[in-house]
Amino acid sequence: AAAAEYTEESPYRFRIARRDPMRVDGVVFASRELLRDAERSLQQVVNVATLPGIVGASYAMPDIHWGYGFPIGGVAATDVEAGGVVSPGGVGFDISCGVRLLAADLDRRGLAPELGAVMDGLGEVIPRGAGPGGVWQVRGPAELEKIMAGGSRYAVEQGHGDERDLRRCEDGGAVAGADPEQVSGRARERGLGQVGSLGSGNHFLEVQQVAEVYDDAVARAFGLAAGQVCVMIHCGSRGLGHQICSDHVRAMDRAMARYGITVPDRQLACAPVDFPEGRAYLGAMAAAANYGRANRQLLAEAARRIFRRETGARLSLVYDVSHNLAKTEEHPVDGERRRLCVHRKGATRAFPPGHPELPEELRDAGQPVLIPGTMGTSSHVLTGVPGGAAFHSTCHGAGRVMSRHQAARAIGGRELRARLESDGVAVRSASWRGLAEETPEAYKDVTEVVAASEGAGLCRRVARLIPLGVVKG
Ligand code: 5GP
Ligand code: MN
Ligand code: MN
Repeated sequence: AAAAEYTEESPYRFRIARRDPMRVDGVVFASRELLRDAERSLQQVVNVATLPGIVGASYAMPDIHWGYGFPIGGVAATDVEAGGVVSPGGVGFDISCGVRLLAADLDRRGLAPELGAVMDGLGEVIPRGAGPGGVWQVRGPAELEKIMAGGSRYAVEQGHGDERDLRRCEDGGAVAGADPEQVSGRARERGLGQVGSLGSGNHFLEVQQVAEVYDDAVARAFGLAAGQVCVMIHCGSRGLGHQICSDHVRAMDRAMARYGITVPDRQLACAPVDFPEGRAYLGAMAAAANYGRANRQLLAEAARRIFRRETGARLSLVYDVSHNLAKTEEHPVDGERRRLCVHRKGATRAFPPGHPELPEELRDAGQPVLIPGTMGTSSHVLTGVPGGAAFHSTCHGAGRVMSRHQAARAIGGRELRARLESDGVAVRSASWRGLAEETPEAYKDVTEVVAASEGAGLCRRVARLIPLGVVKG
């Protein structure tokens, strides 16, 4: 298909004007160069704009790339009371995939002599790769239900972390409205043995250092300072979330005709939020989100034990936020507050200072937004801003430019590991192939992505982090 036509509305903001069957415009936040890399995915922005009940615009973040139905880096909100739909493709297969950042009471110089031992320890305790096995042996189906209902809160109740951790998690560590009954036997089976595991390639646990601080006051409020050692964890809901997405796409695909819904791409299968298929998906999605959050809580605990053992340092949670989720939120639409189903797929919620959902200690600073870059470049910490567009959303990463296949052809895993190690990044990976697929060249320049996000008025930069060691899924 021909690329969608767009006009530059203001710096870092492009508009795709509505034409049938779009219900709203498309709005893409990007620099001209980033947009050039993303042209093919604009058709997906156009397709999303046709969804029943969509309000505002079909948005794309600067890290936009091709995804299942929706682009990765897509944000779309539907009006629940006006027949608005929820679409599993607008959340993605890795439900509640997200990022958790911990800050150590240790700086780079203090860690240096111990880095090898820390990496070896992490390499031993962090389960990774596509297979089963997690840091937590779930005691059967009844306990899996408790994880799906309670998320990080349940993990903390079981002694894996403390109350402060929950304050620093989106939703206090647990999404309300989880309905394990909507989770199939197959999904449970897949999830049972994977609690506390990274998963494959793009997921990681990284030891980092704060390389640059752009806003001292906000960094301090987040618990970050120049030179400080951090741990960043990126993972999601493993086979459980994946199976839930497949199951509910199938159910909605069958239901759409009954509701008289047509979509330009079957991967946009959807159902009204307040109808049985919509409710069922949202209940299952919340269950998977809680599983994903418990997963990150447990991996953080495993990292804490290693840091304690090897360095004596403590790791405090900066924040935990997902970048693949649909949430019910209230936002003004045409001057009226409406209850919306906000899909963020490869996009991060970025609440501004003063938002009532933020814990007291973050009220003045805004919500920490955690942006992984690559294992060879840098990652970023941002914060939300007043008036942030796209329902207070921003980018989620650097965003791919090469397919996994292309990346693996461009470099071998062994060669990549040698290069990273000579650049001062210790590597503990699950497979050579998986490592090569994630070579830094496979991604856009994260510095450009966060600069465009800030330039578009979606967020503000707080700190830049560089990798010291990576445990790769
Ligand atoms: P996704 O959720 O789309 O799979 O990945 C989010 C982002 O993580 C990617 O866009 C990429 O920028 C980043 N990323 C992937 N692998 C690594 C890694 O090993 N280290 C860091 N710091 N970032 C990574
Ligand atoms: Mn993921
Ligand atoms: Mn992710």
